[in-house]
Amino acid sequence: MILDKKKALVVFSGGQDSTTCLFWAKKHFDQVYALCFRYGQKHVKEVDIARGIAEKAGVPFEEKDVSFISQLSSGCSLTDTSITMDKEKPATAPPNTFVPGRNLFFLSIAAVYAREHGIMNLVTGVSQTDFSGYPDCRDSFIRSLNVSLNLAMDEQFVIHTPLMWIDKAETWKLADDLGVFDLVRNETLTCYNGIKGDGCGECPACKLRRHGLEVYLKSKNK
Ligand code: ZN
Repeated sequence: MILDKKKALVVFSGGQDSTTCLFWAKKHFDQVYALCFRYGQKHVKEVDIARGIAEKAGVPFEEKDVSFISQLSSGCSLTDTSITMDKEKPATAPPNTFVPGRNLFFLSIAAVYAREHGIMNLVTGVSQTDFSGYPDCRDSFIRSLNVSLNLAMDEQFVIHTPLMWIDKAETWKLADDLGVFDLVRNETLTCYNGIKGDGCGECPACKLRRHGLEVYLKSKNK
């Protein structure tokens, strides 16, 4: 299979991070595609929001149902409504918002999809800077997976992680530099309680997002 280095596939959820990555990809590649996953998340309207943003961005959008992922393991508060979400990161383990294997499955499926469509570049919004302690958001995992995917399919995929070494405030700056600050602020869904834009303000995702926003706006007004 010949992979086109000017094509990129964004693993896209409609949140702040992957939306910023979508517009980053549009800046750096000629043809951009968005792939969205249903994985049994409580807030399935996430997918509708993602589709709407992709439409606005003029990017072809496709969704795949991979809800078997959440049935493989128990104890995740994002997919099991009976579990109370961890408010803080536990000292020794990832918080119960962690979906084991999620990024492994997403990127592996994305790579097969990309191969089918002749797309060389994969883009994901993972970050190890001030994230929640998810092991599959770390740079070492992404590098390792990139090698494994290439060996698995004898291809030359390149996984891009534009947010890996920047924090939430810098992610807001990147969105602003890309000219999509308002779109990211108003249209994306990051909140674990399913509220668009500035969100519920209480869940860990909202707190992280809002703190980054406050830091960025403060630095901008100096
Ligand atoms: Zn929230």
